[in-house]
Amino acid sequence: MIDEELCINCGKCAKECSFGALDFKEKKVRYQGGCVACGRCMSFCPTSAIMVNDVPNIFPHHPWFTERDRRAIAAQARSGGVLLSSCGTDLPYRSIYDDLLLDAAQVTNPSIDPLREPIETRTYLGRRSGKLCIEKRGKKYELVSGDGAIVSMDMPIMIGHISLGSVSYNTQKALFTAAEHLNIVAGSGEGGLHPDFFNFAHRINSEVASGRFGVTPEYLKRVAAVEIKIGQGAKPGHGGHLPGEKVTEMISQTRMIPEGTDALSPYPHHDIYSIEDLQQLISVLKEATDYQMPVGVKVAAVHNIGAIASGIVRAGADFMTIDGFRGGTGSAPRVIRDHAGIPIEVAIATVDQKLTEEGLRNKVTLCASGSVRSSADMIKIIALGADVASVCTAAMVAMGCRVCQHCHMGICAWGIATQKVELASRLDPKIAAMSVVNLFRAWNEELREVLGAMGIDSVESLVGNRDRLRYVGPNPKMAEVMDVKHVGEGWG
Ligand code: SF4
Ligand code: SF4
Repeated sequence: MIDEELCINCGKCAKECSFGALDFKEKKVRYQGGCVACGRCMSFCPTSAIMVNDVPNIFPHHPWFTERDRRAIAAQARSGGVLLSSCGTDLPYRSIYDDLLLDAAQVTNPSIDPLREPIETRTYLGRRSGKLCIEKRGKKYELVSGDGAIVSMDMPIMIGHISLGSVSYNTQKALFTAAEHLNIVAGSGEGGLHPDFFNFAHRINSEVASGRFGVTPEYLKRVAAVEIKIGQGAKPGHGGHLPGEKVTEMISQTRMIPEGTDALSPYPHHDIYSIEDLQQLISVLKEATDYQMPVGVKVAAVHNIGAIASGIVRAGADFMTIDGFRGGTGSAPRVIRDHAGIPIEVAIATVDQKLTEEGLRNKVTLCASGSVRSSADMIKIIALGADVASVCTAAMVAMGCRVCQHCHMGICAWGIATQKVELASRLDPKIAAMSVVNLFRAWNEELREVLGAMGIDSVESLVGNRDRLRYVGPNPKMAEVMDVKHVGEGWG
């Protein structure tokens, strides 16, 4: 909506709108339709004359055929095709995070003041040895793994996999720069690593997906960790698709595919049909990297995730990422994104219980991804059983993303999910990186505050400590499945 009294017809909003929703002709701005609510126009209007409002419902109210349903039917009646979307689902499923409350220390278990006493948030990615191994390196003592390589991170946060292609060069540069500043790890996404980013390689978790794009021994030997991607929370059971128009010269060189061709990742890995096959690929990657880095496996959270996780650890994975329903994506069929998988809260609690029962939990670092929005979500997922929260969308929001769910169109007005040079140049990688650094530093400070309030001096002691959570939601069965007591229930 444009307020005609405030508008000075400078045309800035039309210039900033990459979705063609605004037209500037004869010194007058007019709305053309097709606004995706990316919010760019509002940010650049010098007189606050433009507002993005919910479009009034043009369909009569119906409790069963919602406006969303009818818009989808109309779109498919026109196109005859699969509806695509980006980011996580926007259907109003209940948030389990919001049904959990944290405990705090009182009287007999005193709290700890994080300003006066140390609280450890350092986290390790890799296979645990089951015993403490410490080596003196120069003047410092370092924790080393007894069973394989480990990567140290200053906080229990990883930046998840966001590939070059789905996002711009500047976006990846900002994410890698942030990982370097924070001493954490960032995912490469599927698509190799641009040579300009080789200097960040020691902070990169490199993804080996079914398309094997850009995967070379030369590249793998430089990175901090390698992760085989079997599945993704936003589209379980589905492969990847980077449209040909996004495969620019730079992307074609990095992914090692012809320019302008669609980059299609098959749904399954064509060499993995059993746990034994997975074991073989894990061994091959360990051998290719001289056993110098942890090798992990990423799967989507699905109904039998406990048994799948057990198999993955037995196959030799050093770390495992469970990517929950609600997880973000650059592009996915809406029907899969909105209706397949299980919530990450339930998946992590189930996997932690299953691996503990089978005596496997200490062998693997468990990473949880799937729309962690805040430090509270991160703390709760750790208490449910994760060692590390893997975060993508929140990092993009820190850089300016408005979660408009149109990344798949490749014309992001904020310069994040695009390969168009004129749009990508809108994102300053230095400013974007510092925004991500500030966000995760703030989350880590909040983690320390909460740990102190709980009387816990190390984040490791919170991992899987479900006794420090209480369920306040409407479904006691949910609490039982997650092994979390209902509010009002005490210890023991
Ligand atoms: S940016 Fe604001 S003032 Fe300029 S044309 Fe658009 S609505 Fe009018
Ligand atoms: S990255 Fe850009 S296109 Fe994608 S959701 Fe965010 S603002 Fe929208």
